[in-house]
Parts: sequence; structure tokens; C-alpha cells
Amino acid sequence: KQLGRGQVVVFEPAMMERSTQHARLSMELRQALERGELRVHYQPLVALDDGRLLGMEALLRWQHPERGWIPPGSFIPVAEESDLILTLGDWVLGQATRDIAQRLHSLPPGFGLHVNVSVRQLIQSDFALTLQQALRDSGLPASRLTLEITESLLLVQDAATESRLRQLRQLGVKIAIDDFGTGYSSLAYLQRLPFDCLKIDQSFVRNLSKSAQDAAIVTAVLRMAEGLGVEAVAEGVETEAEAARLRDLGCTRAQGYLYGKPQEIDAWQARP
Ligand code: C2E
Ligand code: MG
Ligand code: MG
Ligand code: MG
Repeated sequence: KQLGRGQVVVFEPAMMERSTQHARLSMELRQALERGELRVHYQPLVALDDGRLLGMEALLRWQHPERGWIPPGSFIPVAEESDLILTLGDWVLGQATRDIAQRLHSLPPGFGLHVNVSVRQLIQSDFALTLQQALRDSGLPASRLTLEITESLLLVQDAATESRLRQLRQLGVKIAIDDFGTGYSSLAYLQRLPFDCLKIDQSFVRNLSKSAQDAAIVTAVLRMAEGLGVEAVAEGVETEAEAARLRDLGCTRAQGYLYGKPQEIDAWQARP
């Protein structure tokens, strides 16, 4: 149908297999939501100088009764092919804003919640309403929320995405560009796009101590963020050596296994 009327496409067995698999996964996901098998885990975002907690990112998890924890990378892309991502996205937004709003009194001042949002959610005409509803229902102030949008998905950008981001920022929420450096954002686009934070993809952090090229790229991104007046967060920091290198390069915020893996909200609460 995508090819238009009168087009005939030979249906490959592999295509059928894939679409059947996806259909099954979609069905299982809907059931998982109903059965309460989906969970939101949280990973800390910290200040690189002293490790203090700045916020947390909400990450969706599926606790399958037989297959155990299923990582989002193996089901979000399938959900993104249909409106299922809207159902999942709404659920995460509701759950995460409630989890954090309820615990805000015991979290440091300025604490921010980051929630990943699919471009498909973003472009819904009622997304701003959905968002306002989640903030109202949970009691989380808009200023505490950052929406993370993956750079590669912003490719399907157009004037509509841009004006939607503007509208959301007017509500008081912040916008972060996730996995920065892995997509194809042009500098002209970055100049126009309303956003508050760049998350430097972990692929650049990984070889930081060995690769002069990666260090040069990270330095350039940090300078650019500074010049644009936006925050920069390094993703996927696993070792003290990576953290030290990032500090040397002038990075002030980070996230990664070095500071904590994603866990249930109460696992963080129990910490001294
Ligand atoms: P992301 O938003 O870039 O999230 C960071 C991913 O890196 C997470 O994987 C996190 O567990 C992982 N990570 C964090 N620190 C480290 C580290 O030090 N080393 C390594 N190797 N990995 C680290 P996760 O939870 O598997 O999520 C994968 C992606 O799935 C996310 O990437 C995000 O794009 C997507 N995702 C997760 N939850 C949601 C959601 O609620 N909605 C949407 N639309 N997408 C989501
Ligand atoms: Mg993210
Ligand atoms: Mg990322
Ligand atoms: Mg990612």
C-alpha cells in the first residue's frame, strides 16, 4: 500500500515471518501492560565533580514470566511501528511522573526526571494535553521534567516537530536530544531546534581514553553545547578513567554504570 495503487509486491516468506513475529510481540506487549509485567526503572544522572545526584532517567523494562527481563531495545522498535508506542509511552509518562512526584520531598533540590519519548508520541496532536494531564495527575512540576528524544528519530523532522517542541517548552518542560552524535542532525537544524540538553552517546565515551578522535569530538560537542547555552550529559560512563577524562575535557554531567545501573525506584530510596 505504501507504494501506491496498482503496485504488486512479491511477498517474501522472510517478510511474513518478520511481520508475524512483530504481530505476536505486539500482542504480548499489550497483554504485558494489562498483566502488570511492565516496570519503570531509574538510572541516576550525576554531577561529574562530586557525584551528587542531579536527576534520574526512566527506562522501561519488561519482566516476562518465562523469558525474564527483556531489554527495551528488543521491543520498543516494534512498538514504534504502530500506535502501541502511544499506549506504552503514556503509561511510562504516568508511572514515572507519579513515582518521582511522590518522592520529591526526599530528593535533592533541582532534581530532574528524564523520560524518553518517541517521535511518534511527540507528533500526536494531543501530546501536549497528555503531558499536562500526567503532570496534573501526579503533581510533578513541569520544571522537573525533561523529555528525551533520540537524535536519529528527529530525522523525520519537519516544521511540525519544531513547533511541537516549542509548544512543550512553553509548558515548562525541558527537551534533551538523546544519543547525540549518532544521528544526522545538521548544524543548521540544531540552530533552529528548541532544546535544553544534549546527551552525548556512549559510543563516544567508550574509547575516550584511547582515541584522540573521540576526545576531539566530545570536546567539540561540549564547546558547542556551551556556546548554545544548553546542558551536556555524557552517557554510558563505566569507568573512573572515563569519568576523569570527561572532567578534563570540561564535561560536568554524566550517567552510566559507574554511578548506578537502572533499578526500581525503591532500590534507590533504600540507599543511605
Ligand atoms: P537511552 O535513552 O539512550 O538510554 C540509555 C541506555 O543505556 C539504557 O539502556 C541504559 O540502561 C544504558 N546504559 C546506561 N549506562 C550504561 C553504561 O554505563 N554502559 C552501558 N553499556 N549501557 C548503559 P536500555 O534501558 O536498554 O534502553 C535502551 C533504549 O531504549 C533507550 O536508550 C531508549 O532509547 C529506549 N527506551 C527505554 N525506555 C523507553 C521508554 O520508556 N520510551 C521510549 N520511547 N524509549 C525507551
Ligand atoms: Mg534516554
Ligand atoms: Mg542515549
Ligand atoms: Mg538510546
